[in-house]
Amino acid sequence: MVVILEKNATQQQIEDVIKHLEDYGFQVHTSIGVERTVIGAIGVQPNFDTRKISILDGVAEVYRVTTPYKLASRSFHEENTLIKIKDVEIGGNQVAIIAGPCSIESEEQIFRLAKIVADSGVKILRGGAFKPRTSPYAFQGLGEEGLKLMRDAADEYNLLMITEVMQIEHIELIDRYTDIFQLGARNMQNFSLLKELGKTEKPVMLKRGIAATIEEWLMSAEYILSGGNKNVFLCERGIRTFENYTRNTFDLSAIPVVHKKSHLPVVADPSHATGLRDQVPPMARAAVAAGADGIMIEIHDDPDHALSDGPQALLPNTFLKLIDELKLIAHAIGRKL
Ligand code: PEP
Ligand code: MN
Repeated sequence: MVVILEKNATQQQIEDVIKHLEDYGFQVHTSIGVERTVIGAIGVQPNFDTRKISILDGVAEVYRVTTPYKLASRSFHEENTLIKIKDVEIGGNQVAIIAGPCSIESEEQIFRLAKIVADSGVKILRGGAFKPRTSPYAFQGLGEEGLKLMRDAADEYNLLMITEVMQIEHIELIDRYTDIFQLGARNMQNFSLLKELGKTEKPVMLKRGIAATIEEWLMSAEYILSGGNKNVFLCERGIRTFENYTRNTFDLSAIPVVHKKSHLPVVADPSHATGLRDQVPPMARAAVAAGADGIMIEIHDDPDHALSDGPQALLPNTFLKLIDELKLIAHAIGRKL
């Protein structure tokens, strides 16, 4: 941590700041310039609240130079994390594609869509059985029945499945069916749920919260990692901004930023990020070009009658065309898909 004193800070104030830093366990190095005094405080204290120093008299600015997350940080773990689930890898050279409907709606629907996913060569089927909906009157998902149908469809077509877990009480139930847990944007800071997922061994895809900074997102990953589950990957799904021509604002730059700050894989979800079918392919292409370790795409063969998120679902033909385009882009940057 670097502490910059006010120009007119008195000797007494400087000494008081130094005393506080030492009392908090930091090693202190003071540099007295012509204009200002700058204090370097050394000592790894990820949880230290820098406001304890910024409120002291004579202090102008306090900067943290280490990150508050440790297990999620690249400085503590240089190598990329590679998540292996059967014959699928997330975080390696291969760009992993996850596709399927927003919600599991019926046996026929999930089997039809699972076949389309499998025929495209994609290995991971998505679908929600417990849905986080803004309105309590909107379709809430089929619950356990949906999980059963999705597992059967995934097994029939030799696919892995990912589905969202919204509450602690459902972890055990969902664990019996799924290969990957999805932690949705609205639950990114549900700390008790994060802690419980830290006790499982299955991979967790942690979506970025609707209004979360990248640091907050990585802190949430830290909760799962510190519980003992190292199989965490992140998903950029757009954030809330003042823009309303798209459902959310797709933060493409989060992909290289996460890669710099963390060793965890990061995938992109252009479906929820844009909310509009015609915006999905260009942003999916951009995400692969930006280095995303995977892309999650919602598809539907009858989106006009979909029970959730029809307007952002790709039709099967557009989806197949997109997969071909993504292969070219992945190849151009030395990756496979
Ligand atoms: C989803 O992927 O089904 C979903 C609800 O996404 P998010 O949590 O990003 O809104
Ligand atoms: Mn959806």
